Amino acid sequence: MSNITEEIKSRLDIVDLIKEYIQLIPAGVNFKAPCPFHNEKTPSFFVSPEKQIWHCFGCGAGGDIFEFVKKIEGLEFPEVLRILADKANVKIDYNYSPELKNQKTKVLDILQNTVDYYHQLLLKDKDAKVARDYLKKREIDEKAIEQFNLGYSKDSWDDLLNYLRSKKFADLDIEAAGLVVKSKKDNKFYDRFRGRLMFPINNIFGQTIGFTARILKKDDQQGKYVNTPQTIAYDKSNVLYNMDLAKMAIKQKNYTILAEGQMDVISSYMAGVQNIIASSGTALTPQQVKIIKRYSENLMIAYDADKAGLKATFRIVDNALVENINIKIIEMPKGMDPDQLIKEDKQKWLDAVKNAKPIMDFVFDKVFSIGDLNNVFHKKQMVRKLLVFISKFRDDIERETYLKRLSDSIDIDYDLLKEKLDIFLNKNKKNYVVEKEDNKEYQPSKLDKKEELLKKIIALGINFSNSLEYLSSNLELEYINKSLVDELYKDIIVYYTKNNSFDLKIFKKSIDKEKSALLDIIIFIFENEYNDYDQNDSFVDLKSLVRVFKKEFLTEELRELEKLLKLAERKNDQKKIEEITKEFVSSTHRLNNLD
Ligand SMILES: [Zn+2]
Repeated sequence: MSNITEEIKSRLDIVDLIKEYIQLIPAGVNFKAPCPFHNEKTPSFFVSPEKQIWHCFGCGAGGDIFEFVKKIEGLEFPEVLRILADKANVKIDYNYSPELKNQKTKVLDILQNTVDYYHQLLLKDKDAKVARDYLKKREIDEKAIEQFNLGYSKDSWDDLLNYLRSKKFADLDIEAAGLVVKSKKDNKFYDRFRGRLMFPINNIFGQTIGFTARILKKDDQQGKYVNTPQTIAYDKSNVLYNMDLAKMAIKQKNYTILAEGQMDVISSYMAGVQNIIASSGTALTPQQVKIIKRYSENLMIAYDADKAGLKATFRIVDNALVENINIKIIEMPKGMDPDQLIKEDKQKWLDAVKNAKPIMDFVFDKVFSIGDLNNVFHKKQMVRKLLVFISKFRDDIERETYLKRLSDSIDIDYDLLKEKLDIFLNKNKKNYVVEKEDNKEYQPSKLDKKEELLKKIIALGINFSNSLEYLSSNLELEYINKSLVDELYKDIIVYYTKNNSFDLKIFKKSIDKEKSALLDIIIFIFENEYNDYDQNDSFVDLKSLVRVFKKEFLTEELRELEKLLKLAERKNDQKKIEEITKEFVSSTHRLNNLD
């Protein structure tokens, strides 16, 4: 197993990978950024290209590329393995290693087989003519059919089920993938998608997690679209159609276009505008906004002009405003969606994108176009609508700017408007508080103070041999416990005492992989915190760190002894009481004599 992960690690660069998620700033030989795993303003998240590790000095999180993707995506190891193996072009036969599978990867494997199967049907099956004709009519070319992996599901109750069974997948797993439904009548499974054009929906890594299926025959009893239900792999609230293909173009152009439907995305993609995605609902969820923000802070919305009324726009962007995303509106001719506009004239679409309006321009125009400014009642309503909108902006400079503009354009005193705005802001505050509580999970768990101190002591210690000399006689092994850092310290001291010198390379060969990885992190600390230290600075720091470490150790020990003493007293165990008291006195003595 470790061979596979090592192979993958050797083929991927940690800096490139992490850059897909956050912006990294060069810091000497390393890179740094505000930590994505806890809230902070000054960056304490570091990435070492040389060691191919990352580490946060704020919350203590760290590791290799696997750890990073696991943590940021909230995934298990088998899922991360598939993603990174794919990225690194490393082929793994998962069937030979059951430990590399879990329920989710089983579902993903089934979906992958299904995509391929549906796709082949669309290209070759005679029943799929209706789907091919439809695509021709919609002017979707072969290249797009390949790129978006479009497919066809046969008009049958068990065609897919039988195919997947022949591939040795279990009925229950196929059901978990959302591909079959259990009949209430006879308890048998039957295909969910029948006689439809299939649009695979992928996660940002390009793995298919579900489908949207479009109607093809007139007498179909189900709706125009049938979607995969919520499954272990498919969560509607964080799906963004086409993000897997669009993300590079989004980064390049530094804005994302959000459309309503799959056809809008495909047509636009064919027309050369590739930084386009579609949401699966009418509003953006906070999770979707977070994903969008990862690639760009600029969002353009291209919804049907009819529906892009004020309320609808508001609903779409509400969560995006909370996340401080810059929003523009792509204005479409009335009654048209991007797909239709592109079919009519590709250039019109390109122009519409180019002329996208900042959201507040759009909102001001909209509001002023629906009422009469000379009518006091209208005016009151318009002011109210605009104030609600302005109150949604997180940035106070933006809020002030719009408020000033409102005051100028309707000739109402700025201070009066400001007063009203504050009322809305107070109402919104409630929401902010809720959001803050959500953030709790990002708070770092309390670090073990002693372990952190010992890491620094090791970092300073191994750089100058007389520091090790000092440590071997001043931070004795009696202060050392059993954690990994403690064990590493012990090994270093033992190695030094034996050889009377310290060679990092040779020493690293003598310890196991886990300790070696920890040592890498510790050296990393040295690079970032002590790189301008000379021997003298280093020694001064080392002495005070040792003193603090011992103090921590003894205080902790006294607290433990106190607990034990109480227990012994309750049991009236005289012998124990005497023993503990002796230790207590000795530890107190040592604590008081720390210089
Ligand atoms: Zn952190």
